[in-house]
Formats: sequence, structure tokens, C-alpha cells
Amino acid sequence: MDLKDIKTQELVKKYNFKFSKSLGQNFLVDDSVLSDIVDGADVNNEDFIIEIGPGVGTLTAQLLMKAKKVTAIELDNDLIPILEQELGENQNFSLIHKDALKVDFNELIGDEKSVKLVANLPYYVTTPIIVKLLKDGYNFKSLTIMIQKEVAERINAEPDCKEYGALSVLVQYYCNTSIVRRVAPTCFMPRPKVESIVIRLDRLEEPRVKAKDTKLMFELVRAGFNMRRKTLWNAAKTLKLEKEKLEEAFERSGIDPKRRAETLTLEEFATLSDCIYDMKTNC
Ligand code: SAM
Repeated sequence: MDLKDIKTQELVKKYNFKFSKSLGQNFLVDDSVLSDIVDGADVNNEDFIIEIGPGVGTLTAQLLMKAKKVTAIELDNDLIPILEQELGENQNFSLIHKDALKVDFNELIGDEKSVKLVANLPYYVTTPIIVKLLKDGYNFKSLTIMIQKEVAERINAEPDCKEYGALSVLVQYYCNTSIVRRVAPTCFMPRPKVESIVIRLDRLEEPRVKAKDTKLMFELVRAGFNMRRKTLWNAAKTLKLEKEKLEEAFERSGIDPKRRAETLTLEEFATLSDCIYDMKTNC
């Protein structure tokens, strides 16, 4: 089929496709959203696009018209023959039948230079996918993703907001963010209960602040937000440092141990984590 003619409703009908709620299947039926995603991701003919969850291939077809090549990762057995049938003839298309959480993206990316991830993400795994894509240090230029409005708010939240959490710190540490557009439930079939946002995360050349030990910093962040109501002191105790050394680390950082994680800026998390690191390594 001509890529321009790939339409969700028609393919769903043609293949008598049954949506799976548990796989987060809400397919896009609005052409303006599709083109805004492709434009928002700034797709051009030098880009290698990785798409997570192509569904029946509606967004994939738009990406194929602009990109150098597109690799789509789909978990649902029933969608694989549809995608092969509808898009398989395109030389610049390849399909991976796998859970995106189990994909080694380094292997996939190889020595490609301009790699962008584009996805209307299945909402039940949005956060684990973002965490994997950022933490594992893959060479993505940007991620342009459709997510629930609430997750976008958490990503962009500032300290002292109730939405501020480990995801805010992680994304802001590695990326600049920009909202591409809002998307109403009417743009999907079936319609989700929530509003959605297309957000673009541009990976920074260097993290916004550089912690001496990133793993340790994110352990501190996780401990802090796992115990939101508790003090930083209580959270930091889980990092298994002797009491005197932990006291010294707080002292050196100038951060009050009675504060809560949700009040700390990115810079403060890095400072405290660096002081804990120094005490751990006896510097
Ligand atoms: N891209 C299509 C669109 O915009 O119309 C479909 C998006 S739909 C929200 C999410 C897609 O992700 C579905 O095709 C679903 O089967 C797929 N999916 C769900 N869990 C997945 C996983 N763990 N790995 C890869 N794909 C997954």
C-alpha cells in the first residue's frame, strides 16, 4: 500500500484487529497529530528513527516518508503480520518483534550518528521505558514521545511541587524538554480516559550538572523519593554509610539533613551525592 494511504481505521477493519487494553493500545486516528509528531521530532533524511509500539503502522508510514530508515519494535504477535504486509516492501523499514524493555539499543544503534526515538508510548510502561532510554546512556539525539499529561507534568516539575520526583530529576539531568502539543482523547481509537502530551526530550551533550558518581546520585534520588514524607537523613541512611561519615557528608554539602528530597534542586542532589561519594572513598 502507498505510505500516504495507511490509515488506522481502514487497517483495523481490514484485518479485523482486536485492541488489547493490557498492551496500552490506543491508536492515533488524527492526521494533524501524526504530522505534528513527525515535525516535532524534526525528522529528516539523515535520521535513523527507532519507533516503539508501531501499532498498525500509521505513524511509522509517516516516519518512513521522511527518514533515512525506521526500525519499529512491537510486542503484540497479532500486529507483526499486519506490519509486514503493509510496510514490509519498504527497503528502509525493519521490524523487531520484542518487548522494548528487553531491547539492547546499543546493538540496534550501532555506529549510526543521528538517532531519534519517536513513539506513541503504551502508557502502562511509559516510565520504565523513559528510565531505560535515559539511564542506559544510549546515543539518542532526542526522544519525541506521546505520554499522559500527568507524566509530562512530572517530567517538567520543579522542586517543592507535588509532581516533582525521581522522574523529574532523571529527565532534567540528561535532557532539555519541550512540549510539542496536547492531544485530546478524541484523536485515538479506542479513546483513552486521559489527556495526552507529545513531548520532546533533547539529550544534552553533557548532563546538566555532573555528579562524581551518577549511579550513587540516582540511588540517593530514589531513596529520597521512595520516602517522600521522611527526612533526607532517613533516606540517605539506606546508602549504608557509617553514621559519622554521613554526618560529615551533610556538613560538607551545607544541606540540612532535616529537609525532604522534594525540596532539593538537581544541583543540590549532585552536591550531596558528591559529598557522600567523597566520604565513601575517604577523600
Ligand atoms: N504507534 C501506534 C499509533 O500511534 O497509533 C500505536 C501506539 S499504542 C499507544 C502502543 C503500541 O505499543 C501498541 O502497538 C502496543 O502493542 C505496543 N506495545 C505495548 N507494550 C509494548 C512493549 N513492551 N514493547 C513494544 N511495544 C509495545
